[in-house]
Amino acid sequence: MDKVSFGFEEVFPDEKTARVGSVFSRVARRYDLMNDLMSGGMHRHWKDMFVRRVRPRSGEAILDMAGGTGDVAFRLARHGAKVTVCDINADMLGVGEERARSRRIDGLSWSVQNAEELSFADRSFDAYTIAFGIRNVTHIEQALAEAHRVLKLGGRFFCLEFSTTTWPGFATLYESYSMNVVPKIGKAVARDEESYRYLVESIRRFPPMERFRAMIEKAGFTQTKVEPILGGLVAIHSGWKV
Ligand code: SAM
Repeated sequence: MDKVSFGFEEVFPDEKTARVGSVFSRVARRYDLMNDLMSGGMHRHWKDMFVRRVRPRSGEAILDMAGGTGDVAFRLARHGAKVTVCDINADMLGVGEERARSRRIDGLSWSVQNAEELSFADRSFDAYTIAFGIRNVTHIEQALAEAHRVLKLGGRFFCLEFSTTTWPGFATLYESYSMNVVPKIGKAVARDEESYRYLVESIRRFPPMERFRAMIEKAGFTQTKVEPILGGLVAIHSGWKV
């Protein structure tokens, strides 16, 4: 059986799924605080920008995959979309449901699902979003195939993910920050250096922007494109099912 990456380690696929599961169960409670600390609040702007690109319309059915604690789903729902938030991790979704209740955001459906094997019928959704989720999935091609399957004809796919910045000075600075500082913040705030080390290592192992765009195309999407943010530190990939 082929091994897959878990951060910088090579592990069997089942082990990756289990270890990613335990990382997110451990970080769930502090996930939102840590996102703000680690990105200096920038993840909020990236998510706002991402949702602007999706252009959600009132009444349309959107699947927010790897939706975690609901950040993207809440933004989509604000435009009147009917959002189904899915994640493989019930702890992350549990925090999301609590947040939705406390913010009085109604009308979201929450469902534990593995992105690689969805329970939804073919052609169920107008749009599929996945933010900072795909790099954690064990078999990325399978998740992309499932995204394609559950979208209606004319449906759109959007992915927000860390990538590799092409700005040289910034790349060096970010490398040092992510490898040295992020795990220390994880240790100090969440008492969990190991989980945060995985999170930064998994970013380094994720395919570069163009290669990931080609994977999306191979899954059957057309007009695929990539929009780099901060030189590709973060990227928005998109495509259409026609
Ligand atoms: N989308 C949210 C956000 O932007 O804040 C959460 C992103 S969080 C970094 C990654 C999420 O991917 C976690 O909640 C994790 O449980 C989920 N995940 C990992 N593997 C998955 C899989 N195979 N299927 C569905 N969700 C998965």
